[in-house]
Amino acid sequence: MSIDALAAPTLDPSPGVDRWAAVGEDLAAAEEARRARMRRMRFDTIAVHGVYDMAAALDNQGSILEPTYLSPAQHFVDSDQLETALAYRMPAWGYTRIANPTLHYLEETLALLETYGTRLTASAHVAASGMAAIHIATSPFLADRGSSAPRPNIVVSAKCYGGTFMLFSERYGRERGIDIRWVTDPMDLAAWDCVIDESTRFVYGELPSNPALAMFDTAAVAEIAHARGLPLIVDSTVATPALLRPLGLGADIVVHSLSKAIGGSGLAIGGALIARHDLVWVAGTDEQRADFARWVKLLPARDHGGGLAPLSAMAILSDLRDLRLRMDAWSATTLAVARFLDGHPAVESVAYPGLPGQPGYDLATRDMWLADGDATGRPANRYGSLLAFTVRGGALAARRIFDRFELIWRATDLGRVKSVATIPAISTHQQQGEEGRALAAVPSGQIRLSVGGEHADDLIADLARVLDD
Ligand code: PLP
Repeated sequence: MSIDALAAPTLDPSPGVDRWAAVGEDLAAAEEARRARMRRMRFDTIAVHGVYDMAAALDNQGSILEPTYLSPAQHFVDSDQLETALAYRMPAWGYTRIANPTLHYLEETLALLETYGTRLTASAHVAASGMAAIHIATSPFLADRGSSAPRPNIVVSAKCYGGTFMLFSERYGRERGIDIRWVTDPMDLAAWDCVIDESTRFVYGELPSNPALAMFDTAAVAEIAHARGLPLIVDSTVATPALLRPLGLGADIVVHSLSKAIGGSGLAIGGALIARHDLVWVAGTDEQRADFARWVKLLPARDHGGGLAPLSAMAILSDLRDLRLRMDAWSATTLAVARFLDGHPAVESVAYPGLPGQPGYDLATRDMWLADGDATGRPANRYGSLLAFTVRGGALAARRIFDRFELIWRATDLGRVKSVATIPAISTHQQQGEEGRALAAVPSGQIRLSVGGEHADDLIADLARVLDD
């Protein structure tokens, strides 16, 4: 997309504006060269450096850390530069609600990681939370098409995070009259296909899902959506780009809660959408399709005002640097814990895509690969740090076990360096009610366990103590 494509019309053009726009073209070309250079690097190198190179550091007093600009606004050389920047005709940040250098470095890194190992290019937009990202990634597709248009619908896997369920069912469904077509078995391709029609606005799924750890065939669902000219949006918060890169499998937009494993030390809440360039959306405009994330960032997100705070962006950027190593280690610990739970007589069932025999095991084994392989470089499946288990004896038994953990924290959180458990039916998925939980397959006796950086032996000891009793 030309840098002019999103520019607002100028009322009284000044020759200085065109001069700054030419400077902008050079700055944009230099940024593209930095991206191209980093695309040739390995996952960990991208995660550590992003597009912040030595030249950028020398422009930043030599700091080897990206700048944390808390300033709400940028100072300009003159009115021409200010006008050019605010018309989006040159790379600039202007005002932190719209853009900011710290956010920029996080966005560039995320876009490179989500397209790692593919020929795709993408852009990212970071938001105040995962829910803010999901809202800003989906609401543009619901734009009014006039009173004669049929009632719009969206097609969504019911196996999703409770907040997402509420955004779609309450805010979009009940308040805005959108028809929410839930797919209760996302592995069943016909179930997606048969509910999509000419009034569908987007197709949405989560994988692995929270808390069912359900999978679906991203490539096949993308094909179904694309055949109708619709985008597929995927929440892969639980997997992170270290383990799963849905854009490479055919998805158009990936959303993340950055508050989870990406920001694993838990110093910030944040979210992101990463959209491939030239995404599939027949009803969209050329600008929207060409660079959806940039369009979102500069127009609807500017107006909604749900951007990420620079200090939070810096905390998340710092955590992102060793994401692959963490997801590798946490996945190994989680598999050990899942195997222990699977063999325990007090446990009725375990949901973890890395356990053979699970409904999602084959798909997860096909699609979830640790970027760049194991320590020897060999391709390696890794299944993430989230599992759920159902204990014998129902809801009360689950509460008794949950209440007696001494090492595993009781909290509504996941993807954390500290292992944390919750009972989804009374926390993350409480508000959607019994009917909603039945749709999403969230049993009342289920405990969700997010495994962190502790040694597997200590976690298993905490679990064994309460389960053996
Ligand atoms: N997506 C998934 C899969 C989640 O688990 C969560 C929160 O738990 C969210 C999105 C929402 O993220 P946030 O809490 O950052 O708004």
